Amino acid sequence: MIRQPDETHDPRLRSWIESANAPGHPFPIQNLPFGIYRRAGSRERPRVGVAIGDRIVDVIACRRAAYLSGVAEACDAPNLNRLLAAGRDAWTTLRAELSQILRDGSYRAREMRDREGELFVPAADAELLLPAEIGDYTDFYASVHHATNVGSMFRPDNPLLPNYKHVPIGYHGRASSVVPSGTPVRRPNGQTKAPTADGPSFGPSRMLDYELEVGAFVGPGNRLGEAIPITEAEDHLFGIVLVNDWSARDIQGWEYQPLGPFLAKNFATTVSPWVVTMDALAPFRVPATARPAGDPAPLPYLTDPDSAERGGIALSLEVWLRTPAMRERGEAEALLSRGSFAAMYWTLGQMLAHHASNGCNLRPGDLIASGTVSGPERNERGCLLELTWRGAEPLTLPGGETRRFLEDGDEVILRGWCEREGRVRIGMGECRGAVSGER
Ligand code: CA
Repeated sequence: MIRQPDETHDPRLRSWIESANAPGHPFPIQNLPFGIYRRAGSRERPRVGVAIGDRIVDVIACRRAAYLSGVAEACDAPNLNRLLAAGRDAWTTLRAELSQILRDGSYRAREMRDREGELFVPAADAELLLPAEIGDYTDFYASVHHATNVGSMFRPDNPLLPNYKHVPIGYHGRASSVVPSGTPVRRPNGQTKAPTADGPSFGPSRMLDYELEVGAFVGPGNRLGEAIPITEAEDHLFGIVLVNDWSARDIQGWEYQPLGPFLAKNFATTVSPWVVTMDALAPFRVPATARPAGDPAPLPYLTDPDSAERGGIALSLEVWLRTPAMRERGEAEALLSRGSFAAMYWTLGQMLAHHASNGCNLRPGDLIASGTVSGPERNERGCLLELTWRGAEPLTLPGGETRRFLEDGDEVILRGWCEREGRVRIGMGECRGAVSGER
């Protein structure tokens, strides 16, 4: 079943860590996202942390001080994989315990405040690393608006292929090149062929793009040969991050047939460092996107009333761009597009159940990304390919610069948050990456 809100989501809860109570702060006590950090500039072993306000809770230090029960032992690791494997009951218990000790009025507050240097790190002093050791990374294509836009560039008369509304389309990505927010992304070299050229050539991509996506970390996996029923899909989902699936459109255009994306996609994928848990998202669950009349119903193995009623996530998304010229002039980044994750054609649960439906074994730490999140409106297109219609309609930025695709030095920033009447807004943090020049 999909999680229901509990007392950890109570909007009246405040933390004794004052910064967490600032209105609009991404990490109030109702959020408690998990990540991996170490003190910036140090070579210390990475640790499991929980973000609250401008602090990071050292989970294992809190366990050693006996503020948390044995369930926190799953955090005694340099990545989240042990915790991911521990399963949903462990996650919920740990969240409840963290909420108890961090809330205003906790009988631990005074003691913990006295031991602040041992139990917390200022977020400003931390380097955030990849949340998990990612064994496998899969990228879906779950926005019908993205699929329709991209399809219509190549097949104006028949944009959506006949399988789209029946089967969640995806491909196996590359786990080794998934990097945390802030990692520079090298402009890739590759083989391309201009439509008018006689033959292909090899060199730096000239059509470098980003893709706004949401990724889910898999918790407990399934045995090889055994499927995961849609009714249990959410038990296997730990939480979500923002994902930028960097894409070289010129390399992609030449290589993608007949087997799909390869070197156009696998040179880098950036993820935001804080995993916002499915537990934290409970108040923001919404019905899965209603299918327009005439669309086929999903097959039974992708259908479940709970998933239809609460399978969506009311997550608002934004893409921002900061160019080198904007940085030089001291200007803030410019908003390129907005998106809503609630508008996806397939839910994360359907993607996971479909992925395992043939017996493919998922494992703790696997990353499942949604595909580009685009909406029906022009300002909801989640990549430059769509926003500039393959470069034909360049964007004009506030300072007068134009962009068809990304230039060297451009920094792409993804942001996301959930809000709902009567609930405390929670944020995803940021997913940042700047393009560094060619080799
Ligand atoms: Ca993608």
